[in-house]
Amino acid sequence: MTNLILTAPLSGWVGPLDEVPDPVFAQRMLGDGLAIDPTSGEVRAPCAGKILTLHAAGHAVSLRAASGAEILIHVGLETVALAGEGFAAHARVGQDVAPGELLITFDIDLVARRAASLVTPIVITNRAAFAIVRRAQDLAVEAGDFLMEIEAVAGLPNGEAPAGGEAASAEATVPLAHGLHARPAARIATEARGFDAQIRLVSARGEASATSTLAIMALGAGEGETLRIDATGPDAAAAVTAMVELIEHGLGGPEVAAAAPPILAPPPLAEARRPAGLVGIPAAPGLAIGAAHQLIAPEILVAPPSGSPGDETAMLGAALAAVGSRLAAAASQGPAAQGEILAAHLEILGDEALATAAAQAIAAGASAGAAWRSAIRTQADLLRRLPDPRLAERAADLIDLERQVLIELGGEPAPVQHLPPGAIILARDLAPSEVMALPPEVGGLCTALGGPTSHVAILAAARGIPAVVAAGEAVTTISDGATLILDGDAGFLSVAPGAMELEAAQSRLATRHARHEEALAAAGLESRTADGTRIEVFANLGSAADAAAAVLAGAEGCGLLRTEFLFLDRDSPPDEDEQAARYQAIAEALGGRPLVIRTLDVGGDKPAPYLPMGPEENPALGIRGVRVSLRHPDLLAAQIRAILRVRPLGQARIMVPMVASLDELAAVRAVVERARTELGHDAPVQVGVMVETPAAAVTADLLAREADFLSVGSNDLTQYVLAMDRGNPALAGAVDALHPAVLRLIGQTVAGAAAHGRPVSVCGALAGDLAAAPILVGLGISTLSTPPAAVAEVKGLIRTLSLQSCQDLARRAQACASAREVRSLVIGMTP
Ligand code: PEP
Ligand code: MG
Repeated sequence: MTNLILTAPLSGWVGPLDEVPDPVFAQRMLGDGLAIDPTSGEVRAPCAGKILTLHAAGHAVSLRAASGAEILIHVGLETVALAGEGFAAHARVGQDVAPGELLITFDIDLVARRAASLVTPIVITNRAAFAIVRRAQDLAVEAGDFLMEIEAVAGLPNGEAPAGGEAASAEATVPLAHGLHARPAARIATEARGFDAQIRLVSARGEASATSTLAIMALGAGEGETLRIDATGPDAAAAVTAMVELIEHGLGGPEVAAAAPPILAPPPLAEARRPAGLVGIPAAPGLAIGAAHQLIAPEILVAPPSGSPGDETAMLGAALAAVGSRLAAAASQGPAAQGEILAAHLEILGDEALATAAAQAIAAGASAGAAWRSAIRTQADLLRRLPDPRLAERAADLIDLERQVLIELGGEPAPVQHLPPGAIILARDLAPSEVMALPPEVGGLCTALGGPTSHVAILAAARGIPAVVAAGEAVTTISDGATLILDGDAGFLSVAPGAMELEAAQSRLATRHARHEEALAAAGLESRTADGTRIEVFANLGSAADAAAAVLAGAEGCGLLRTEFLFLDRDSPPDEDEQAARYQAIAEALGGRPLVIRTLDVGGDKPAPYLPMGPEENPALGIRGVRVSLRHPDLLAAQIRAILRVRPLGQARIMVPMVASLDELAAVRAVVERARTELGHDAPVQVGVMVETPAAAVTADLLAREADFLSVGSNDLTQYVLAMDRGNPALAGAVDALHPAVLRLIGQTVAGAAAHGRPVSVCGALAGDLAAAPILVGLGISTLSTPPAAVAEVKGLIRTLSLQSCQDLARRAQACASAREVRSLVIGMTP
């Protein structure tokens, strides 16, 4: 195709962009181009095209040529401050214009006197798609004279590859079941940044810079979709090859909310007993009665520009840096779930798509705040429109960062909310930072929007705040002070309940409170049933901070250390020394209590950036858990050696995830024995298996011959037994581990293990479900490993149980027809 010729839109002296006294243009943040120091006050179309933008102040106009090239003409510097004075627009947005057609006139004397400079940059803003191949520079031109020649780069619409290997293009098909989610997108962006090339991903719906996680996510590229990868620059060919390889073979499984602490399966109230109110989705368990308090974040007004685009750019940079360092500091404290969410926020804060959009807006005259807001909202809208609810929920994270940066720019602290104690917080939606900032005495929260995998739900669960999400717009119409009953287990909000309903809820709550207080007071006691059967209560951990909190809550050990969460967001696997140090720190935080360290459980719903995996038709049934470790013997050996180095000897035990047959356990055992010999480690090491596959449950007798202990991973076991994706929000209410089929398999596991005298624990979310604990005890489970927040209550409940009644309950539960029936059975039997 023929190249596009741009003529000079104004008469004057043409110079390079480098000489424009504004870093936004001089550093080509908006793209390549030229600048004209004008001698006339008329701006004319440099080519035929459609007007894309025409600033209200009349000082900047952009148009798109038929080839797709987008050209911005910005008259003078800091001219936005003139608010239109001296400018007149002669075109309108959407209008098709002919070459040379008059677009803007301006009073050159007035603008020369009042603005910082008359120099007018003319920039190609979609720079990855078009390159300037010839330019008139360092000479005087008349409007309409030749200014520059633009060529479309290879692979882009109508483009042809320029010679010299500086542009390259190829196609890649997305193999991931859930498409280019946050984690795969972040992997692509990280890899793309390593090349000296501009790389773009092009789909049928649009295109994205490959170095922007957000822009890639916003493409919404799904499984089986073919993307074109276009690159220009010295590394173009290598970049395209690497991107194709990464997308097609290197991204492993899909990203889901696997890092979230398990949300307890909802025990729905029987429909007939459900009073009138708002039905939502259970997001964090618990019951609360309190006064409604609408949390309405005051709209933050953004200030108009107070300085040059350079000043506004610097202000935005400083605000981003300040928010970034606050997030980084907070990420290293608190529970693992909070750290992971804040790490994701840090990644977004530095995202290239946001930075570019904000820079463009500043260059077009916006203030730092207005530019940041428009950049964020554009991206948030793109995410909201994506069909995948898990991605759409991430829009709330963007809006959260919008607020934090705007507050920083205003130099004001976040507004302090004075909340009545026990208030039930109502909001259309909440930002993760707002949930983190809620005082501990908050009763519960209910939002009109949101989903069960949103960061708000995860944080509420981690903080022990009962929560219901997606209860509909009616949430926002409830008056402040109205009495509410919020049932986080059932996903229900009762508004202005009647006296009887209120009384019933109060008595349920009083029982719960008493139980909680009692449980906390007795958290340090050894866990036994009322009739003396020892049932250990351990905690599931993802960090040393979790370990300290768990011990305070009375945890008698750690039944599951999810080691894959200790080393997220790294490009290289952790080495033996690093692992040994982390495990030792957690062992010490546990003060000598048993520590069950699970070998790496990646694949499926838990990709690890440092372990690229090939495309899989169905990652949930693919290379995951122990299958990954056995394919990476060096990694497995390093991990086993690191575990064996934990002191005192015997505190650390090894647990193998996603086992389907005995030979997998035997293979790991062989690695353990070799490591023991190498390290001169005489003491025996306990090696156990997780029961997460139906195969492991039904062959527990075979596994128990070789395993020192078995531990039921009820989250995965349930998803495989019920054939329901545990991360699919649409199935959140149905993936209930109290399904009789799951209970029968747990019973079968215990029987198989008992044949060889092996103990069985449960370390999935079921262990922390108070409705499940008596049944599990009755089935013969000897250790329950729960989230740290549930430890004290589970211990307290166990103290009230008798083995005989638990065994009766377990028998009856296994005979039920559904999980719902099991839950109804339990409601009548537990205190
Ligand atoms: C489980 O599957 O129940 C389990 C504990 O493992 P994870 O939740 O880490 O997959
Ligand atoms: Mg699992």
